[in-house]
Amino acid sequence: MNGQQTLLFNDLKRSYECDAHEINNAIQDVLKSGHYILGPQHNKFEADFASYLGVSDVIGVACGTDALALIFAGTQHIGRVGPSARIITTANAGGYASVAARQVGMQVEYVDVDEQTHCMSVVSLESALTWSRDSVAAVVVTHLYGRVAELPAIEAVCARYRVPLVEDCAQAAGAIQDNRRAGSVGLASAFSFYPTKNLGALGDGGAVATSDPKLADAIRSLRQYGWQGKYKKVLPGGMNSRLDELQAAILNVRLPRLEAQNARRREIISSYRTFASAKLRVLSADDASHAGHLAVVVTSDRDGLSAHLARHGIMTDIHYPIPDHRQICVEGSCASPSVDLHVTDTISKQVLSLPCFPQLESDEIRRVCDALASF
Ligand SMILES: *Cc1c(COP(=O)(O)O)cnc(C)c1O
Repeated sequence: MNGQQTLLFNDLKRSYECDAHEINNAIQDVLKSGHYILGPQHNKFEADFASYLGVSDVIGVACGTDALALIFAGTQHIGRVGPSARIITTANAGGYASVAARQVGMQVEYVDVDEQTHCMSVVSLESALTWSRDSVAAVVVTHLYGRVAELPAIEAVCARYRVPLVEDCAQAAGAIQDNRRAGSVGLASAFSFYPTKNLGALGDGGAVATSDPKLADAIRSLRQYGWQGKYKKVLPGGMNSRLDELQAAILNVRLPRLEAQNARRREIISSYRTFASAKLRVLSADDASHAGHLAVVVTSDRDGLSAHLARHGIMTDIHYPIPDHRQICVEGSCASPSVDLHVTDTISKQVLSLPCFPQLESDEIRRVCDALASF
């Protein structure tokens, strides 16, 4: 440890401390207001986040996984797919879309990812859709580690096969590609405000973004028991999944800081790239089409690198060690029969995430750089 303090992988206390005064005031205001669910802070956040993203509707929900499940359920209600439909997604993104799909009775099919970006491979997607496009409810593309996936090409494939595109933006809040915010491109998109995300609450939270008014109506109803107005149940399959007022108030404090913090995250990743030894590849985060959520290094000696960093007091994590199709509970999901997942399998043994949060001090960043260089 060289007598140094341990550098945490993520230090959420520091992120609270940097705007503690405003957050404390915002919480006090909610406590005194008497509105705790779907009140003015919630409404303000929905409106502000919608205009920030450039969509007509944002619907605040309880977490990112619910956002995905509600999108899938909503597409059933607006008549795009039957109940036994499947989604097509990637297997290296934490498995959230798979959990959400199964929650609403859908099957999951996986396609491979691109070796350079680790986001969905367009070739692999096309080959899965060529093989069979029947009853595909949605293609779910994850903007992994904060990098916006190859959207124009994926959009074109989805349009050609008439399959809706859903964006998982849990790691990419604030990213922008060709003047379009991540989350404004597909039929709908899901956001998570889990505390470690770029736009993080101090508890669970999530949102759906869409510019389809019918889908927005269905999801507004489904997030609250299937109601249309109070106590009138109009849709089956409703649940209780709302963004609470306290979390919304915290997000209202943090939304205006998102862009500057994303830029800081990208600077950290660029420093790591500059100093990394020849044995390592740090995935790039060069411009605003990357939200800088995670600093990920690819190496054939992951165990060696994580042990080396631990000896220097630097904590790391793995996103994600087990691809979805290798999980024990894979009931009802499979690799697309027409593609193999060898890139997904290979990189799951090679990725390692380094500390990356906006409050890292320059001497801490330097410490990580030195350790990377000496590996
Ligand atoms: C965190 C995350 C989610 C899930 O969000 P929760 O709020 O934890 O349910 C979904 N997708 C991705 C890619 C995530 O990183």
